[in-house]
Amino acid sequence: MYENFTELRKDCFACQKCPLSETRTNLVFGVGNETADILFVGEGPGENEDLQGEPFVGKAGKLLDKYLEVIDLDRNKNVYIANIVKCRPPQNRDPLEDEQEACINWLREQTKLIKPKIIVCLGRIAAQRLISPDFKVTRQHGQFIKKGNILFMGTFHPAALLRNEAQKADALADFQNLREKIKELEIKL
Ligand code: SF4
Repeated sequence: MYENFTELRKDCFACQKCPLSETRTNLVFGVGNETADILFVGEGPGENEDLQGEPFVGKAGKLLDKYLEVIDLDRNKNVYIANIVKCRPPQNRDPLEDEQEACINWLREQTKLIKPKIIVCLGRIAAQRLISPDFKVTRQHGQFIKKGNILFMGTFHPAALLRNEAQKADALADFQNLREKIKELEIKL
């Protein structure tokens, strides 16, 4: 249990709990407001993220920033963005079960410090890890599910939207639902 982000970040940056530590350029800890009410979680860093040390940069990141902007959210202001695994899986493959298991505690500690009211899972890997192992993004995207004190919602991964333009309208609707939920919960942005 960590008291603050400085200690958590320091220990996380030294992590060698799984083999992804051997191939990373940079560990990608997370970015955003450490007291945000909304936390976004993806699966893991890709090539650009590994090079820059920040989650969701490059084309997919730009698309995410656009969706955030539409509903008055901003990674530099009122959300936090992190991943299930902090180091890039080679060739952008899905993080293995063992890698996710080794890494998930860092996200748990981040979540304890941030204390978000809403967690948005970006893509299947994050939704299956945080919401339900059988979560199907195409069927269950946009639905809010309460677990403990936190509302969870799963939606499309921005990289998947770049490959499948047809899902962009559904993703936008999910973000608009999120905006409604933020209003309903009277969350100050
Ligand atoms: S992916 Fe996670 S568990 Fe593996 S080395 Fe990186 S920080 Fe540690």
